[in-house]
Amino acid sequence: MSEGEWERTKVAPAAGGDDCVRPGTTGTTGTTGGTAAVGGTALRGRGASGGVARSAQARDRADLGHEQATAMLADLRRTLLDRFGTTDEALLDSRLLGETLPGSARRGSERRATGSLVVPVRFHVVHSGGSGRLSTAAVRRQIATLNAAYGGRLGGSDTHVRFRLDSLDRTDNSAWFHNPQRNEGPIKRRLRKGGRGTLNLYTAAVGSDVLGFSTFPQWYRRDPRLDGVIVDFRSLPYGSYAPFNHGFTAVHEIGHWLGLMHTFEGGCVSPGDGVADTPYEQEPAQGCPQGRDTCPQRGRDPIHNFMDYAHDACMRGFTTGQGRRIRAVWAAYRSRKPGRHRVDLGTGAPGAARSVGAAR
Ligand SMILES: [Zn+2]
Repeated sequence: MSEGEWERTKVAPAAGGDDCVRPGTTGTTGTTGGTAAVGGTALRGRGASGGVARSAQARDRADLGHEQATAMLADLRRTLLDRFGTTDEALLDSRLLGETLPGSARRGSERRATGSLVVPVRFHVVHSGGSGRLSTAAVRRQIATLNAAYGGRLGGSDTHVRFRLDSLDRTDNSAWFHNPQRNEGPIKRRLRKGGRGTLNLYTAAVGSDVLGFSTFPQWYRRDPRLDGVIVDFRSLPYGSYAPFNHGFTAVHEIGHWLGLMHTFEGGCVSPGDGVADTPYEQEPAQGCPQGRDTCPQRGRDPIHNFMDYAHDACMRGFTTGQGRRIRAVWAAYRSRKPGRHRVDLGTGAPGAARSVGAAR
């Protein structure tokens, strides 16, 4: 996880695939891993009792799969190369965190606060009467959990991403509340605020098979209106969805929104999730399988990673590589305007030394 361990073996910029499901566990809440995608959304499934997420996992893989995963990674590489003249995330990182962000620090979306990227959050609570009508305190606890998780305070690496609650609204709509997957379009078209760098986070009764779903950064240009994350209101800290009620479903889904794939993406086959310091794993973790090691490559399965499917109590953090990936993805897809960055990477690589955005 240290920077020194960063390798490029798992290749570049990852981005997610279509749908990500987070199969739950066979435990109390059971699992049936989520499913699929809703118009190209990543889903974090939970499980249905006993049936673990076999079928869901299969669907998830079919939805994302090697072809799409590699295509999304390739898209990220192309975008970085086009905008910054390099796909070297370590180089991008040093420049972006050290030079670019300060310049936009006074403009809202990308602000530099103690070296971090501050993501404005527009929180939308969809409820049905008293059901799902989350209190402001509950929402603030979720934001605090996001900051703890992305700040590395729960055991992982500090991704240098922070979240700031900019607005909170509540919408009483029974149909939307009970079936946010089917009503994803109407919900987002009505409530969504901000641009590519604004996180729109919605809560509703997502359902029995998944805990939440998210779009990936690569999809923003295809349909910006659908950009955002929807999680089950019971998955928030102290919610009723044990063992998935520490608020980590939002952490996981937002990971996709920020460009991370599942740690089990592609199983033991390269490029996996495209991040070098997350060991390969054959399948999602169910519960908290300590010491599991399902792939021949180096390292035990990253069961404690937020981008796996373990119980919330088993989840701890992101890796240094994931943090770096998030920042590169942000630069590629979510920075406010292509022309905003003026980072001369000066790598010396052919065609690399250019002022980012200057010619766009
Ligand atoms: Zn997922």
